[in-house]
Amino acid sequence: MNSSGSTDQRPLLNIALFGPPGAGKGTQSEKIIQRYGLVHLSTGDLFRKHIKEQTALGLKAQSYINQGALVPDEITIGMVDEKINDSPEAKGFIFDGFPRNVNQAKALDRLLNAKNCAISTMISLEVPEDELKTRLKQRAKISGRVDDQDPKKIQTRLDIYAEETLPVAAYYYQQEKLMKVNGVGSIDEIFREICTALDPLQS
Ligand code: ADP
Repeated sequence: MNSSGSTDQRPLLNIALFGPPGAGKGTQSEKIIQRYGLVHLSTGDLFRKHIKEQTALGLKAQSYINQGALVPDEITIGMVDEKINDSPEAKGFIFDGFPRNVNQAKALDRLLNAKNCAISTMISLEVPEDELKTRLKQRAKISGRVDDQDPKKIQTRLDIYAEETLPVAAYYYQQEKLMKVNGVGSIDEIFREICTALDPLQS
């Protein structure tokens, strides 16, 4: 049911993929998109595209991202809204890196509600902090990302995750939509566990 009490939601599969930096959200997103035919909406990727193209939004976001800080909500939410509106024929979305705080989660509920749909489930990739640091150090060698290069910036991102992003899991838990998946193992093992959670939700 949506907040207006009606049940006329479109049968879209909308997934929020959740987990700390380095949890494997991007890798698993690609596999999820292939299997379920969803539109990938990664706020990190969208920001990096804007920065590369030197758009006004990219210029605003750049300094926050390079410091490992969150981009202000109004910029981020506006960008997500635009991307949802750009894909009217989507069978559903996979939100990757969004929502990253409770304010963004509430905004996403409102955006989807206005289109008579909702988040179907949140998949949370669970990975211990030591493993994340090892993975991010490896990724730094190939990603070329400024925010991957400096251990201090990585720590800032992990701290922000713990303080601002973890409460988003509680938000979806209250809505009975939180699904935890072990994010340590082979890519295929993790994907199989994700499919076990998502297959029953397909309409
Ligand atoms: P990671 O998985 O390593 O955190 P992302 O590609 O998801 O990387 O995000 C990179 C950076 O982009 C974040 O550290 C943050 O600065 C910015 N960013 C991405 N998504 C959001 C968001 N939802 N809200 C605010 N800032 C964001």
